[in-house]
Amino acid sequence: MNKIAVYPGSFDPITNGHTDIIKRAAKIFDKLIVGIASDNEKQSTFSVQERVKMAEAVISEIGLDDRVEVQGFSGLLVNMAHKNKASVIVRGLRAIADFEFEFQLAVMNYKIADDVETLFLMASDNQQFVSSRFVKEIHKLGGDVSQFLNSGVVKCLDDKIKK
Ligand code: ADP
Repeated sequence: MNKIAVYPGSFDPITNGHTDIIKRAAKIFDKLIVGIASDNEKQSTFSVQERVKMAEAVISEIGLDDRVEVQGFSGLLVNMAHKNKASVIVRGLRAIADFEFEFQLAVMNYKIADDVETLFLMASDNQQFVSSRFVKEIHKLGGDVSQFLNSGVVKCLDDKIKK
């Protein structure tokens, strides 16, 4: 039986922290779907299409495109999981800060769909403090973000700022 998982988030843009979770989750499941939420489109830097494209390029570069798929989605996460026959939601957990939100989200998702389990992977020690929000902030202020992002994603951020 194929074990399918979804890894949802805003990925605005995909960072090396996200990529680390994708690589590790791809070793556990037969198929991993990176789900890019479009519900907060107005607050995001990149459109859902741009975020999907960046994630696809990173996944192809690390050679995982045969088992990791990227999808934009809107609406309830558990509906998206059911649609894809996924029985697991993967989330990354950074030290302390993520815990409360992630705990609530996992419990609420379980309450509305108890056939889908949430599985947490602890952020790797060198990725603990990497977040899309801080990376964008550093970039906006002229800092070098190449240690946090794939080079293609850095270019997309550069282009966005120029617009
Ligand atoms: P962010 O919090 O960076 O805006 P997302 O909403 O796209 O990211 O997060 C999607 C998932 O990836 C969440 O479970 C989040 O905790 C996790 N995640 C984000 N950054 C990292 C990281 N550096 N290491 C591990 N997991 C991460």
